[in-house]
Amino acid sequence: MNNDALEQYKKITGPEKIDQLYQLADPLKKMKLVHVNSTAMGGGVAEILTKLVPMTKALGIDTSWEVIQGTLEFFQCTKGMHNAIQGMKHFLSPTDIKVYEEVNRLNAEKLRDVLESADIVVIHDPQPLALIKHFPNRKGKWIWRCHIDASRPFRPVWKYLRTFIERYDASIFSLAEFTHPLPHPMFVIPPSIDPLSEKNMDLDPKEVEKVYDIFNLDRERPIILQVSRFDRFKDPLGVIEAYRFVKKFNSEMQLVLAGNSASDDPEGDIVLKEVQDAARGDPGIHILLMPGDAPRTINALQRVADIVLQKSIKEGFGLTVTETLWKSKPVIGGNTGGIRMQVIHGETGFVVNTPEGAAYRIRYFLQHPEKSMEMGEKGKEFVREKFLITRQLREYLTLMYSLISSKTDRIELPMVKHDELA
Ligand code: UDP
Repeated sequence: MNNDALEQYKKITGPEKIDQLYQLADPLKKMKLVHVNSTAMGGGVAEILTKLVPMTKALGIDTSWEVIQGTLEFFQCTKGMHNAIQGMKHFLSPTDIKVYEEVNRLNAEKLRDVLESADIVVIHDPQPLALIKHFPNRKGKWIWRCHIDASRPFRPVWKYLRTFIERYDASIFSLAEFTHPLPHPMFVIPPSIDPLSEKNMDLDPKEVEKVYDIFNLDRERPIILQVSRFDRFKDPLGVIEAYRFVKKFNSEMQLVLAGNSASDDPEGDIVLKEVQDAARGDPGIHILLMPGDAPRTINALQRVADIVLQKSIKEGFGLTVTETLWKSKPVIGGNTGGIRMQVIHGETGFVVNTPEGAAYRIRYFLQHPEKSMEMGEKGKEFVREKFLITRQLREYLTLMYSLISSKTDRIELPMVKHDELA
């Protein structure tokens, strides 16, 4: 990505927002920024970094993205941590802790040079959290970026993780309600989507149409869609239940559950099997196993769907919701976490608590297509205002700048025009 590519965003956000990014990036140009997470593909974190890293680079900041390596045992342990942070009762065994710390130690050795020399290190989620223990003499500022709902964690696991979190210089959460008192500055920065990525850009209608044939979907019958990793917190079984309620009134319905797996999520196959068992014998249910990187296909599916669900029971943010709203479609979403921030009940969709509730709203949209269109348009403008990557980048840059200027009470940015920077 280069300056010209950044200029493209002006058409979507207006020019001032992009000029502001150049202005904020200018004093950070000598900085070295490193992001660290645990998967290059699959799930929302990888989705965001794929776009955020090249954009930060295009602004002239030396940015890199490192992915830690782990064993199956390690990812089973960190998935348990992930579940426990989201409130599930899950104890870590002494072996879990040993594996977790050992994998972090090995990765710390591998990444020593790059992390030691960085001015800002952003560590995403619990998997690489313990790296910090191995950098007692770090020169840069380290930020823990938590993407999950940590509002009611399972205490014993949180207590253990806190011993690492406390060492960071700052932390970032997606929502204010996800935070916990911590002994360092805490920031709230919601995630975002890239409107120009293949996942979200406008597609030629012919390309969109192709998904009917690729997945053997009936053009004449309404489609309910949920796009998600196969994860219990996404409640795929609840989606099937909702579809079955609706089918009693509208036998024409088709349900599409499109999902992939993330390399740091070892539970995916088990949940997929549960979903396949629940769907067995119903030709109206299409379970689509998506390849790791199929953004245009997901884009097209979100465009052909008549009704889009994200019926999660817990959700850090729910990029799938943002992606759908950006396509001018309302979302029926679980009444939880980041979904509540995006699905404004009765305005950009409906939040629901049960499969029956979801079914009720599905029927409402089927009977009131004009309402669905109206809410979809509102949803798109809502995303333009609040959840585009340009806003997230602005907030990251501001945070970086405030951390490195923490000794001054007042921050002044020089006026810079991007053409002077090129
Ligand atoms: N996704 C995808 N293919 C799939 C399932 C999901 O590309 O088969 C993408 C989805 O479009 C979204 C991301 O993975 O961009 C999931 O992010 P979200 O915040 O919704 O959930 P997470 O997986 O991070 O819990």
